[in-house]
Amino acid sequence: MNHHHDAIVIGAGAAGLASAYQLSRRRMKVLVLEKGYPGCGSTGRCIGGIRQQFSTPGAIRLMRESVRQFRQMEAEFGSTIEYYEGGYLFLAHDSARMETFRAILPLQRELGLRIDLLSPEECLKLVPVLNGDGLVGGVYSSEDGQAYPFKVLAGYISGIRKNGAEVLPYTEVDDLIIEQQTVKGVRTRDGGTYYSDVVLNACGPWASAVGKMAGVELPVTAEGHEAFITDRQPRLFETMIVDYRSDGCYFYQRTNGQVIGCYSPVPSRPGIHSEATREFLVEMPRRALRLVPRLETARVIRHWGGSYEMTPDGSPIIDRTPVKGYYVAVGLSGHGFMFAPAIGTFVSQIILDDVYPFDWAEFKLDRDYSRNELMK
Ligand SMILES: Cc1cc2nc3c(=O)[nH]c(=O)nc-3n(C[C@H](O)[C@H](O)[C@H](O)COP(=O)(O)OP(=O)(O)OC[C@H]3O[C@@H](n4cnc5c(N)ncnc54)[C@H](O)[C@@H]3O)c2cc1C
Repeated sequence: MNHHHDAIVIGAGAAGLASAYQLSRRRMKVLVLEKGYPGCGSTGRCIGGIRQQFSTPGAIRLMRESVRQFRQMEAEFGSTIEYYEGGYLFLAHDSARMETFRAILPLQRELGLRIDLLSPEECLKLVPVLNGDGLVGGVYSSEDGQAYPFKVLAGYISGIRKNGAEVLPYTEVDDLIIEQQTVKGVRTRDGGTYYSDVVLNACGPWASAVGKMAGVELPVTAEGHEAFITDRQPRLFETMIVDYRSDGCYFYQRTNGQVIGCYSPVPSRPGIHSEATREFLVEMPRRALRLVPRLETARVIRHWGGSYEMTPDGSPIIDRTPVKGYYVAVGLSGHGFMFAPAIGTFVSQIILDDVYPFDWAEFKLDRDYSRNELMK
């Protein structure tokens, strides 16, 4: 088979589809190649949280743009994405954590976030069902929220198709065609060859392997995470609740009453994972109940595993590479669903206009990775 496209996107997760959508809006004939089905990677396993509360200027700017887009997506796609701004409340159970929240606040406000430090009493006023034992305070923004990942992906796919571009599921890229350090196309496991002068690697936890196909080393490693969802409960709280303790967890109540949440395992579980463990099934309800005892009537109806795609500093890599025409939108470090709308817009500007949208230092491939995102 011989095909030529203006751009090829590898990976139909949130990052790949948002990028393909934005490129197709700019009249590019785009082809998305996906080794499974759209959303089968991390995106279909995420819990749909969306927040602007980060600690670095770039991440906050990305999220300002993403939230702007999430707010208008239903009108743009003509379908629901279950977007709801119930807020995010981060809890501090020690004064060091509270000091971190306090230290970041001026930057967050300067970049336009509506955000407040809360006393323990104010946290309890916001979430009356919260167990305030040991609470030192919190930080809250009402402009954070949630959306349903598969509906967002469905909106992107229908937009991509309306714009004349294509998504090919079950088509795995197994090699890149590179001539004189310039990308020319890709080869697929089923024997296909697709030509393009622009190829974007949006392969989530598999990004490093697809980087290597072009001889580009990407510092992206996968780690296992899990999530659960309960049956519908009466409305108990509006906001995502994030407990940062080493045995903490985070969860929110969907608009239909289900409670959905995760915790970050300590120590981390390196590698690509999709198994749902018994340990999580026992531990997650225990942690959630400690924070909100009223959840005792909730029943877990499903739990599942998936992978984060981590960089050493917890910030994405959205950049050109030393191979001309080969771009990356990878290493979204557990926040890729929420970053994706902005990534789509900004990576298309890098590809088509050859400009970085703003001071891009924290997203460049050749950056110093020693800094760390404080609101991981
Ligand atoms: C339990 C859990 C909870 C999470 N909660 C949140 C949350 O609340 N909010 C949030 O923003 N993020 C959350 N995340 C993180 C989020 O899911 C990811 O950061 C995001 O989905 C990454 O998107 P992506 O498009 O980069 O990768 P993916 O969605 O993994 O997409 C990459 C795609 O590339 C395809 N692919 C790989 N190799 C090839 C190849 N060789 N050829 C063709 N296709 C290929 C894969 O099949 C995959 O579909 C969570 C993750 C997990 C696991």
